[in-house]
Amino acid sequence: MAAKFIEIAELCDKIAKINERNVKISLVSNFIKEISPDEVDIAVRLIIGKIFPEWSDYRLEISWSTIIKLIKRITKATNKDILEEFSKTGDPGEMTQVLMEKKGIIKQATLMTLSQPELTIIDVYRTLEKIARIKGEGSRERKEILLENLLRLTKPLEAKYIVKVILGEMRHGFNEGLMEEAIAKAFRVPIDLVRKANMMIGDIGEVARIALLKGYEGLKKIKMRLFHPIKPMLAQQVENIFEALKEHGGKSAFEFKLDGVRVQIHKKDSKVRIFSRRLTDITESLPEIVDLVRKEIIADEVIVEGEVIAIGKDKRPLPFQYLMRRFKRARNLSKVIKEIPADLYLFDCLYVDGELLIDSKYVDRWNILEKIHGRIKLVPRSITSDPNEAQKFFDLARKEGHEGLMAKKLDSEYTPGNRGKKWLKIKLILSTLDLVIVAADWGYGRRKNWLSDYYLAARDEKTGKFYVIGKTFKGLTDEEFEEITQRLLKLKIGEKGRTVYVKPEIVVEVSFDEIQKSPKYESGYALRFARIIKIRYDKSPEEADTLNTVRELYEKQFKVKAKNNLLNLSRYN
Ligand code: AMP
Repeated sequence: MAAKFIEIAELCDKIAKINERNVKISLVSNFIKEISPDEVDIAVRLIIGKIFPEWSDYRLEISWSTIIKLIKRITKATNKDILEEFSKTGDPGEMTQVLMEKKGIIKQATLMTLSQPELTIIDVYRTLEKIARIKGEGSRERKEILLENLLRLTKPLEAKYIVKVILGEMRHGFNEGLMEEAIAKAFRVPIDLVRKANMMIGDIGEVARIALLKGYEGLKKIKMRLFHPIKPMLAQQVENIFEALKEHGGKSAFEFKLDGVRVQIHKKDSKVRIFSRRLTDITESLPEIVDLVRKEIIADEVIVEGEVIAIGKDKRPLPFQYLMRRFKRARNLSKVIKEIPADLYLFDCLYVDGELLIDSKYVDRWNILEKIHGRIKLVPRSITSDPNEAQKFFDLARKEGHEGLMAKKLDSEYTPGNRGKKWLKIKLILSTLDLVIVAADWGYGRRKNWLSDYYLAARDEKTGKFYVIGKTFKGLTDEEFEEITQRLLKLKIGEKGRTVYVKPEIVVEVSFDEIQKSPKYESGYALRFARIIKIRYDKSPEEADTLNTVRELYEKQFKVKAKNNLLNLSRYN
């Protein structure tokens, strides 16, 4: 029998209330075990709120303001109701549920179910698929109608999860990694095999279907499918060279940390696609890099990784913001491309001619990269156990206009999506935090037409809620103020006086002098002299720093402050 969508909504609600990861995994595993093979892929995708793989062409393109508009239309909620409910939980799904319940939609839905069958997971998925397929003129209106019709058929709890799925914000603490474990448990296959299969085909729903229908043998047979991006391996921040060397057992590969855009490049013969750190396809914005890869790489099939940076007239790297123009202005792209030349530096190789290399050691992957890169530059690197030599290399990177160094453990595998200690980043600034803008004040004087004073928040890793830890209007250019104002207005939830409250979406990298304990904000912390140093287009709010990191940095700053990083700072400032 076809699975009902309400069952998924109830399951998600249940796992959100449970802390123990094993209990969560068991619940989901028992659930998907009972689903028929032709629906298991859909169930798996809906539970984790990732309905289409990143590499697919399907895009819902339902904006936050559309959701608000539809909720208002369906529930007759006012702006005040929206702001009030959203502020309570910071959760768009929960807000939808409460507003629907308040306005008596529950009655309507109950009455409705007497005459109409309940929504199945296939109903919901197919509608979302239809929405995602709509393209071209009038697409926004057509998408809206489909979604409104769907939401009008739902009970409040179902609506809650439809909104969550659309926004990709499940907040039940059950991510793709846990889903891999649930699949392994449900269909009695090894977890490593499930992970590898998911990485190779990049579609967790399909992996579940293969595991259910063909088990171990089926998963074993899966081959790497090129053009499905692999989640990038990430780095943790350390204070200095010494810490990096200590962490890596006394010796490390130090590479320049370039301030550009992380790219994962897939090539098969002359076909080339480039993916960003968030796994979106950015090929169109980097035509000369495509040509370069096509011409230079000495292999039929590869996946390589590197950083694309913008180069100024003096041949020095330009700040990351310049490169971002390429990704924003699709219309006069060719002009922007001419104005801001880009260059590629490679630093990793994940696949070559049928061989997946992620389980190989860093040094071995680099050796292969050296054989295939042609005339494409490799990121400058120095392998050393000598702190002085490493410090000199750091100074050189800074002198040449780069951000700092990455330290990579020589015998480490490539762990997709993982922010471990195998890769460490060493930047100049003592510490920065990636924070999310949750509200903004209209400026005064020259800045009066801009939302220019920003409330910066860190994420509570348990609840997913954002807590303000500081406020700043410093660091952005006029052009950036203008851009952020436009983006914030699209994310607006409500307004009170001069303050506009927004859905947490925009991530910014913030430097500061100190973290203080303070009753000023609910978080209990406040940043002193916060300043935005960069808009992090490449980070989602889930990747922003957490309250835990804020706490850790607060503790750490006393120990570190006097130490060598301040020495570094005085040297460069
Ligand atoms: P962060 O964005 O501060 O977390 O630092 C990680 C980012 O540094 C990666 O996503 C890359 O875009 C960038 N990066 C620059 N140089 C390198 C390098 N040599 N190796 C790895 N990542 C690098």
